[in-house]
Amino acid sequence: MIKKISYLGLGTMGSGMASNLLKAGYKLTVWNRSAEKCVPFARKGARVADTPADAVRDVDLVMYSLSNDEAVEQVIFSGEGILSGIKEGQIAIDMSTVLPATSLREQEAYAKRGVDFLDAPVFGSKQESAEAKLWIMAAGSKAIFEKVRPVLAHLGQTVHYFGKNGNAAAMKLVGNLIVALEMEALAEGLVLAQKAGLDLNTVMEVVKVADFRSPLLVSNGQNIFKRDFSTNFALKLMLKDAGLIEKFAKSLESPIPALRVVEKNLASAVDLGSGTENASALIKALEKEAGVEVNARAASKPIRAAITQKRPATVGRC
Ligand code: NAP
Repeated sequence: MIKKISYLGLGTMGSGMASNLLKAGYKLTVWNRSAEKCVPFARKGARVADTPADAVRDVDLVMYSLSNDEAVEQVIFSGEGILSGIKEGQIAIDMSTVLPATSLREQEAYAKRGVDFLDAPVFGSKQESAEAKLWIMAAGSKAIFEKVRPVLAHLGQTVHYFGKNGNAAAMKLVGNLIVALEMEALAEGLVLAQKAGLDLNTVMEVVKVADFRSPLLVSNGQNIFKRDFSTNFALKLMLKDAGLIEKFAKSLESPIPALRVVEKNLASAVDLGSGTENASALIKALEKEAGVEVNARAASKPIRAAITQKRPATVGRC
């Protein structure tokens, strides 16, 4: 039975998960590159480790949620990384969004040390992480999955098993492809609605109930209306994920024409200085191009007037 856990990476997602492990009564060790993020956990009784190698000492399970493949590479494979401290019989779970190839590389390296590994990325954001309502996917040995399932149940509202290592990481990229296209659809739709002079609050009432409704469209739409781009999922992380999806799809010769457009808009929004804002700040790239700002409080221009303004001075007969 798992009793002692270490959690590495106390960012937006990791801090919520680590807090829930403490609440669930596990004996917790934490490590974070910027040490100040460990302080609230130390106050609640967690042991704070100096290095990733130190963090994995004497625990049953090692979990981590890190920004990207490069961070995973560093925290695992570098001199004082996890691999230099982990021992046979321990279990490691990577909850970051990374390439399936990275998960496989992790699995191979751990296997050489007699360590079992699951890739277990998540859907949901800051709030779902804090409230233990994540949607978790896991891949690797079924027996190990069953062993850690009770731990994952303290972090999420669902846990889906995906079979062999790398498959959960692949599912995460499939899901994030859909998320990226939804965000782009929302941004393009709201800019068009603004240009058409529609009442944006009524637009959102329709988005809430129509057959294309989704919680992601509603929550991000409402925050855009308030011009609230505080970070749940950073725009720069969505751009990172777009790059991963592109690489992954290319390796399988699977077409992603729409994702390429989203990636370009994400990069433009990062260039505008919105990289650390929420991913919904993607809309700023489109607003710049359109010469409008989507704002539910601003007066709408009547659609008739907008159409009339665009009409050419002389209209030929046909
Ligand atoms: P975040 O808030 O930016 O936190 C990233 C974490 O990675 C921090 O602990 C950071 O340490 C650490 N880190 C980054 N580079 C590092 C390096 N080179 N060496 C050691 N540590 C490093 O990101 P997040 O939003 O929690 O996301 C974490 C992962 O979950 C990402 O893979 C993301 O794509 C995925 N994800 C995020 C969401 C979301 O809504 N936010 C949802 C699903 C999945 P410092 O504190 O020192 O910077």
